[in-house]
Amino acid sequence: MNCKITQQEIEDAIQNMQLGKSPGPDGLTSKYYKTLKDYLILPLMEVCNQIMGGGRAPETWKEAFITLIPKVETEKTQLRNYRPISLLNVDYKIFADILASRLKKVLNEVIHKDQAGFLPGRHLFDNTRNIIDILELLQTNINTKAVLIFIDAEKAFDNISWKFMKKNLEGMGVGRGFENGIEAIYSEQKAKLIVNNVVTEEFHIEKGTRQGCPLSPLLFISVLEVLLNMIRRDRQIQGITVGEKQYKLKAFADDLVITLQEPESSTKRVLELIQEFGRVAGFKLNKQKTKVLGKNLTPLEIEGFQKETELVVVKKVKYLGVNLTSKNLNLFKDNYEKCWLEVKKDLETWSRLKLSLLGRIAAVKMNVLPKMLFLFQTLQVVDRVECFGKWQRDISKFVWQGKKPRIKFKILTDAKERGGFALPDLRLYYEAAAFCWLKDWILLENTDVLDLEGFNNSLGWHAYLWYGKVKTHGMFKNHIVRKAIFMVWMKYKDLLESKTPRWLSPVEAKAWKKPNMEAGWPKYWELIEKIGDNWRLRSFENLKDKVRDWFHYAQINEVVKLDKKIGFQVEKSKLETELLEPKTKVLSRMYNLLLKWNTQDETVKSAMIKWAQDIGYNIMFEDWERLWTTGMKFTACNALKENIMKMIYRWYMTPVKLAKIYHLSDNKCWKCKEAEGTFFHLWWTCPRVKAFWEMIYNELKKVFKYTFPKKPEAFLLGIVGQKVLKKDRMFFMYATTAARILIAKQWKTQDLPTLEEWQTQLIDYMELAEMTARIRDLGEEAMEEDWKKFKNYLKKFYKLYEL
Ligand SMILES: [Zn+2]
Repeated sequence: MNCKITQQEIEDAIQNMQLGKSPGPDGLTSKYYKTLKDYLILPLMEVCNQIMGGGRAPETWKEAFITLIPKVETEKTQLRNYRPISLLNVDYKIFADILASRLKKVLNEVIHKDQAGFLPGRHLFDNTRNIIDILELLQTNINTKAVLIFIDAEKAFDNISWKFMKKNLEGMGVGRGFENGIEAIYSEQKAKLIVNNVVTEEFHIEKGTRQGCPLSPLLFISVLEVLLNMIRRDRQIQGITVGEKQYKLKAFADDLVITLQEPESSTKRVLELIQEFGRVAGFKLNKQKTKVLGKNLTPLEIEGFQKETELVVVKKVKYLGVNLTSKNLNLFKDNYEKCWLEVKKDLETWSRLKLSLLGRIAAVKMNVLPKMLFLFQTLQVVDRVECFGKWQRDISKFVWQGKKPRIKFKILTDAKERGGFALPDLRLYYEAAAFCWLKDWILLENTDVLDLEGFNNSLGWHAYLWYGKVKTHGMFKNHIVRKAIFMVWMKYKDLLESKTPRWLSPVEAKAWKKPNMEAGWPKYWELIEKIGDNWRLRSFENLKDKVRDWFHYAQINEVVKLDKKIGFQVEKSKLETELLEPKTKVLSRMYNLLLKWNTQDETVKSAMIKWAQDIGYNIMFEDWERLWTTGMKFTACNALKENIMKMIYRWYMTPVKLAKIYHLSDNKCWKCKEAEGTFFHLWWTCPRVKAFWEMIYNELKKVFKYTFPKKPEAFLLGIVGQKVLKKDRMFFMYATTAARILIAKQWKTQDLPTLEEWQTQLIDYMELAEMTARIRDLGEEAMEEDWKKFKNYLKKFYKLYEL
């Protein structure tokens, strides 16, 4: 905590700065720091270490610009409807960032895990899961009277007392240097308001954590933790009880929910503690905005509670973005259905925007998916799977603009590296999210969740997951979350684990479930060994600390014999490598795994076969793959990418197809009016089209100054082959895509593009590429190289392009 700040820490902090944010009062942007970091690191390090040693912070670090941003859809004439945004200097932020990452490490140890905000590895989803589980428990234990109090504190962040904050840091033992650092930047803070682009006089700030400063949320939760500890330790406060354990509270930053039995006496005590804490720390409860859900209370009891506590009992609350009532049955309607209505409205609006196919897919990915994903991760309660079909139909309708789909849904959803369009498959995302919750049941480590979620299970979790005990213990599914997760598990169980899994604990499965579970159940991979070709339970000697006694050992051995019949999983399964082991990105890993299974038979085989039939030979699978992975990356422009995808999937309507659909007698090519208008004829074999490609081919030879084979897959799909030099391939992609886009523009006509149109189109792309390169901060030289030959060609043959 208190050692000298190193060069590496400064460098990391600069690296982490986001680009494109408004600078602080000194006007220096984060880009400035990134560009000049080699010159700035040493002086910055010196200043930082002086402060850690007790020196004063530069005056500029105490300044901030504050601008006011109106909150959406509120009256703009009232100050409270504006959200203040502080603009701080970047060098200050670098220092604060370093202190913050140091502080995080300490807080991760000190702060109880029921505070889910701002610390690594903690998720707000745990909080909603906790609340739903508690409501589910109370639904079964109808004699337990309880309240859930959703605390609202008045501008909690702004009112925290600095004096208390400093005392608290001292108490946590962060050390002198660190305290110096905080003291230096938190004493004498000044700010200027920017209103309508005019900067006001400076004023001083004397309380509250600093908005926009990375330390601020951490300081806040460490102060709040004092109150939370008071509540946890107080014996007069009775939390929701499972065995020896009490579930009293969950926090996400200042979003605090307290779950209590003995409603009146417990609540009164909580209010006393809040008041006591509030006096010294500057924390104030807003009684009007604090809301209470009651469970198993009579109307009379509710009335009594309100009178005693001056808190309001309501039917509905919004907690961390989720609509809650005292009955979980309403969750689907209040959240999923409501959200989908909004999504549908959005889809209708975007329908009017004339987006391209890829544009519409991107709209789903960027706007629909995040909304739904939030629900999937917070509310694992879907037991009517029909909704997925309905959502998919609505999305399909939008993607195809009400017309007949031209590509199978599965191919649309497949990953780009397999030739798909990566349209999100909502059902698979929901299922992937279910696996993230299921992870706790498999690992058997998070005993808080397991005790609460399994409060009335009579067998171990693995008995339900693996040994089919749900059939005889139907009550397992009498729980909204257990039922929903279990349904997803059963769907994939056989696919994921065809043999007895390594993670399975026969010991846990065979144990009668106690209200409070132990952790550290032995798993199969620790229990068995292979002797010759034969798997067997390790010796009693070997397992002495994992089994209770001989009798227990013999029991386990019986189970092993039975499990041996289906065999043991020897190598790690996909479930293990993608879900159980990783600490991060679990959701996307699971999604990709499920997606692969769901699409593997479809992929693009049918399109590939059709192309092979047309060209008369097979294109190697590696070549297709290269096209999807690297071949598409030559441009940032959607229209160009889209053209390639449309070619692969043979998108364009042909006279032959139209004749079939509308029972027309004429199916002749639009260009030559003689041959049958098949897809390949219209793109390649038609004499008139052939002449067009011959012209393009000749021009390309002029550009490259060498010859190469004229193959249809190169011109139509961009599968170039080795004969075109690597450094020319980028241009080749642009050149052929331009030609195809021009053909497509005159698709149903007799006309074909002219040489001049093709050249003009390419010049447009060149300018676009230059712009993209500048936006993406790519080197000008690489850009120059890609288009050099084309520029020379234009100059030499057509005197078209002047530098
Ligand atoms: Zn023709």
